[in-house]
Amino acid sequence: MIKENLETIRTRMAEAAARVHRTDEITLIAVTKNHPVECMIEAAACGVTDVGENRVQEALGKMEAFPDNHLTWHLIGHLQTNKAKQAVAHFDLIHSIDSEHLLRAVDKEAGKIDKVQDILLQVNVAREEQKSGVEVEEFPQLCELAKEMPHVRVRGLMCMAQNTENLEEVRPVFRIAHALYEDMKKKFSEGQICYLSMGMTHDFEIAIEEGANMVRVGTAIFGPRNY
Ligand SMILES: *Cc1c(COP(=O)(O)O)cnc(C)c1O
Repeated sequence: MIKENLETIRTRMAEAAARVHRTDEITLIAVTKNHPVECMIEAAACGVTDVGENRVQEALGKMEAFPDNHLTWHLIGHLQTNKAKQAVAHFDLIHSIDSEHLLRAVDKEAGKIDKVQDILLQVNVAREEQKSGVEVEEFPQLCELAKEMPHVRVRGLMCMAQNTENLEEVRPVFRIAHALYEDMKKKFSEGQICYLSMGMTHDFEIAIEEGANMVRVGTAIFGPRNY
């Protein structure tokens, strides 16, 4: 099942890219939260190189069960400052930096282990109350602060669209996120800003059409999650 699903998704990704004449690389992050490590191992055997987890604790268990892994690990869920230490110790890219407080905590913990942590800034472009992400108005300040931090390196922007039946409603959200991302490139060193993380199972094709180069897909690969 996982193998077939991955083939289907890769085809759909390529078709979405072709519709807008894109030839740049687009990374598929397989979101394995709430699925057992066996699913991750199977996905890796099918060529998946990037995995996404929402919770630090769950991810650590899977890393232990999968010691000889060469995967790139993405933390995509909300991060609490008291988990910053573990997150920094184990993740390659943290997508969910959404406040000054969290940014400072990650910088501090990375400093302790002499690491420069790659991060994305999560922006609440959809302006949903229950969604995390820094407000669009506060985003420039967060960028400025991040620039001063020696142990974090901002690589781009992450956003989540609203969950809606009418998929075309998400397009303007992704379009704004893309504009913010292009703006960011001018603020940081050349080449530093290179990831626009947006698009999930229900909207990854629209995200790709609007410029995403990282999509985070769970359900369409592994099936529904059991909570
Ligand atoms: C769970 C999750 C995903 C994947 O969602 P699917 O709809 O299962 O593809 C992507 N991004 C974030 C931040 C998530 O929490």
